[in-house]
Amino acid sequence: MDTPNKIDILIVGGGPIGLACGIEAKKAGLSYVILEKGCLVNSLYNYPANMTFFSTSEKLEIGGVPFISHGDKPTRSEALEYYRRVQQSWELKVNLYEKVEKVTPGTDTRFQIKSSKATYNADSVIVATGFYDKPNLMNIPGEDLPKVKHYYDEPHPYANQRVLVVGAANSSVDVALETYRKGAEVTMVVREEEISSRVKYWVRPDIDNRIKEGSIKAYFKSEMIEIKEHEVIIKTSEGLKSIPNDFVMAMTGYQPDFSFLQNIGIELCKDETRKPMHNEETYETNIAGLYLAGVVCGGMITTKWFIENSREHAEIVIRQIQGEKEVTKVN
Ligand code: FAD
Repeated sequence: MDTPNKIDILIVGGGPIGLACGIEAKKAGLSYVILEKGCLVNSLYNYPANMTFFSTSEKLEIGGVPFISHGDKPTRSEALEYYRRVQQSWELKVNLYEKVEKVTPGTDTRFQIKSSKATYNADSVIVATGFYDKPNLMNIPGEDLPKVKHYYDEPHPYANQRVLVVGAANSSVDVALETYRKGAEVTMVVREEEISSRVKYWVRPDIDNRIKEGSIKAYFKSEMIEIKEHEVIIKTSEGLKSIPNDFVMAMTGYQPDFSFLQNIGIELCKDETRKPMHNEETYETNIAGLYLAGVVCGGMITTKWFIENSREHAEIVIRQIQGEKEVTKVN
């Protein structure tokens, strides 16, 4: 008798890399389903409304579907349109708003997967859950106030407001410039002594010049100490300073959902990278038949993998799964 929902591969996460895995599974003739806890490409949907990718569009392509953008670099809304079309043209089986809650390695079929809506049995599981669901916290008093945002959407709510931006990488710089241009009074608090060298090369002169001319105030080699209702306390090289404030944009980066990975049984590196253990050639984790794909592979090193360089994980992982299936058949 057939086990209900029995498939070759269950893919956790409907981001660009989860979709790429679905495409490769389909090409290989394997049965699969992608479970996504939010909307299609949920992380991209939650990026700032006016963001522009640093990659050119062809570097974000998957499944051979051409990605044409109007400018040099694609925008968020062009990327959403593109991945919708990819899903449609490959007729990918993606179940949206279905969160994977538990993955248990089993005996007769290899894995039992419990989602918010159903139970599945799969021979292999690919975890492509990204890193955008958990912000890196500053762990300071007042961080839980409603005026503190770890995700930024659009500038309008911050017009005529005193906005403090924490950090100096791409997200912080984009937020500082965009809110400044819509009438916010912007202050940046930066741990390092200058704006990050990873900031998009065409944006860098803009932020450097706004700081130099004093339109945006920046405290370098400084850190946040406390957030209060109407002020923030920062530690600068000249001692503690109180800055009047309405909103704090804590652009301190994000991290994978480590507890989800650990609950499945995936081991993490013991050092500060907390990299989920996997074979760097096959992407198989310490659990046989359970693979990683996409940016989740980097652990805390969220600048190692992008769509650009991790889309190839899909082909490698599916080739590996297919190879193992053939070995099992022969034996
Ligand atoms: P994600 O896109 O994060 O997909 C993971 C998916 O898994 C999410 O949709 C999430 O909802 C889902 N999920 C998580 N847990 C569960 C669960 N338990 N059950 C079901 N679903 C779950 N990369 C580039 O190559 N070029 C760029 O220009 C670029 N610009 C960027 C700009 C910003 C602002 C940011 C934050 C990132 C940028 N990146 C860029 C990085 C790139 O967007 C990510 O690397 C990309 O989203 C990675 O794809 P992914 O499929 O691995 O992960």
